[in-house]
Amino acid sequence: MTARPVALISGGSRGIGRNAALRLAEEGYDISFCYRGDEQAAANLEKELAEAGARSLAARVDVSDTDDVRAWVSRTEKDFGPVEVAVTSAGITRDKPLLMMSDAEWHDVIATNLDGVYHVCRAVVFPMLKRRKGSIVTVSSVSGLHGNAGQTNYAASKAGIIAFSRSLAKEVGRRGIRVNAVAPGLIDTDMSARLDGTMKDQIAERTALGRPGLTSEVADAVAFLASARAAYITGAVLPVDGGL
Ligand code: NAP
Repeated sequence: MTARPVALISGGSRGIGRNAALRLAEEGYDISFCYRGDEQAAANLEKELAEAGARSLAARVDVSDTDDVRAWVSRTEKDFGPVEVAVTSAGITRDKPLLMMSDAEWHDVIATNLDGVYHVCRAVVFPMLKRRKGSIVTVSSVSGLHGNAGQTNYAASKAGIIAFSRSLAKEVGRRGIRVNAVAPGLIDTDMSARLDGTMKDQIAERTALGRPGLTSEVADAVAFLASARAAYITGAVLPVDGGL
């Protein structure tokens, strides 16, 4: 049996990451994903990946902890082989107007969303450089492009991801590695379910397509950017926002 390539996905157990995992499994990848605490969601995904014919490794990891992330990436390489595609989808919100925001709410969001991307990319990029092969897709947000009231912490983390991805793309492009970001708009997931209904309706109203997006629609963009079909695309930020 020929070995399948390996895709590593942070925050793979739910939402956008989960759909990206399933999509990449369909495209022939074995999947290593991490999650923060929801064992049941992780077990469900493992079952679905097995049904899709992919091997999977589910790791309980806090992406804000660099040692945790390094151990997960090492275990993935040892058990499955070199990571060819990395997707950073782990993310949280702690929405508040700035005046009411606690230091913890600021730091938790930056640590998970931005430090988390740094930790994952730092761990996968060296082996990718050695093999001169790899594709990284980070998950930013329209909040990182345009800003959003009540999300100074989140928008700053997501804008940071864009600058990080463009810079890394410039560092590693000549060594055969591509780095791109997707910037989703309002997507139907557990995260967006926390927004109040009126606000969700207002955002959906402001999109050209008049509706929230599906996780599968973001996963399609992620899979495209990760693949050889996007061989001449790097340092790009692809909005997946229904024309917001
Ligand atoms: P979600 O449904 O809430 O899922 C978040 C995933 O990240 C879960 O697998 C969660 O694991 C994991 N996670 C959270 N904190 C983690 C940590 N410290 N370490 C490791 N894993 C962690 O979120 P989503 O809506 O799919 O969002 C995915 C990404 O898309 C995020 O980066 C988000 O900012 C971005 N995004 C979402 C939207 C949207 O409208 N939904 C729009 C733009 C951008 P557990 O379940 O175990 O906690």
